[in-house]
Amino acid sequence: MSKKIYLNNEADMFAFAKQFAATLKPGNVVYLYGDLGAGKTTFVRGILRAMGYQAAVKSPTFTIVEPYPLGDLTIYHFDLYRINDPEELDFIGIRDYAASESICLIEWPEKAQGHLPLADIACYIDIVEDKRIIRVDEK
Ligand code: ADP
Ligand code: MG
Repeated sequence: MSKKIYLNNEADMFAFAKQFAATLKPGNVVYLYGDLGAGKTTFVRGILRAMGYQAAVKSPTFTIVEPYPLGDLTIYHFDLYRINDPEELDFIGIRDYAASESICLIEWPEKAQGHLPLADIACYIDIVEDKRIIRVDEK
């Protein structure tokens, strides 16, 4: 199933993130595609807010992964932009992050093809002038 949503501003993105968060299930792996500045991190921030996480959500560009414990569930936010060698991810045991009590949200999955847990959902964010279009593909 694939759907396309038009997002005129950041408030639309947060509203959509809230709807999307409600559809996520423990164990899900979500790939987030889109250029720098497309809104991947903003989308993750919206998902975390919707799930009740109030503190700051920063892009883990240098740390690769940031865990957000939410009761029984942990959300792992990955940013693979700075990965030079995808084998680095094998060392951090990236496949083990995908588990029944976690949800993985992965920015720049294309930097580590073949080294990631498979996606349940792929989101593609396009920049169109000052607006965004997000396509959500459920596998
Ligand atoms: P990425 O993680 O894809 O590099 P960020 O989420 O860090 O992108 O940045 C997106 C930027 O675009 C933010 O400054 C945000 O305010 C802005 N922006 C403008 N319109 C939108 C929109 N509709 N959805 C998301 N972000 C938007
Ligand atoms: Mg980002």
